[in-house]
Amino acid sequence: MREGTTLNIVLLGPPGAGKGTQAKMLTNRYGIPQISTGEILRCAVKEQTPLGIKAKELMEKGVLVSDEIVIGIVEERLAEPDCEKGFILDGFPRTIKQADELKKMLRVCGKAINHVISIDVNREELLERITGRLTCRSCGKGFHAVFGPSKAGDRCDGCDGELYQRDDDKEETMERRLDVYERQTEPLVAYYAEESLLRTINGSGSIDDIQRMLLETLERGHA
Ligand code: AMP
Repeated sequence: MREGTTLNIVLLGPPGAGKGTQAKMLTNRYGIPQISTGEILRCAVKEQTPLGIKAKELMEKGVLVSDEIVIGIVEERLAEPDCEKGFILDGFPRTIKQADELKKMLRVCGKAINHVISIDVNREELLERITGRLTCRSCGKGFHAVFGPSKAGDRCDGCDGELYQRDDDKEETMERRLDVYERQTEPLVAYYAEESLLRTINGSGSIDDIQRMLLETLERGHA
């Protein structure tokens, strides 16, 4: 990547595709922040803020929080100075309305998304992956009971925090989240293809394989 290149990235893909894991890796590599609306909302739920109280029930059901709420969250977050050199949006946009508003808010400050990468994984594999997923309550690090267990057993091997299964990772909720993805978010694949921003990578390999493809795709430049 050339010095001074701005990376304004959207990671698209169904829940369980590995967006969060890959976003964290990109953060370490390029020094740009990961903006995960899901993580911001989970923090708000944990702290029982007015936003968290509004979002909790919808998140537990596996349906989307209102566009207005998440658009507000992202607008505020993108105004932080650490987004100047770029950012990785993980879990946003999730609807056409969110994508339209994102374009507008970036345009106001002379910016634009310059990479949209869709991580493609089939439904059976997603169900298998996600129902084994474990998250650290303290630092948010992700593990998998089968594919990526913590070296410290039922504690986080990074910070020793407690590992838990997100309520919305249980199987029934997961089915609903995948339906919601297909209905409300998948149309963004065509939306960004139309804007000539979309590249798709196969997300069914190992974390390292996907990372390699993702970096190659970013380093290669535009679609
Ligand atoms: P995630 O961690 O990205 O899978 O998000 C967890 C949950 O947070 C989703 O199932 C939604 O209820 C909510 N959420 C996260 N991001 C958005 C978004 N961009 N639009 C609407 N709801 C969202």
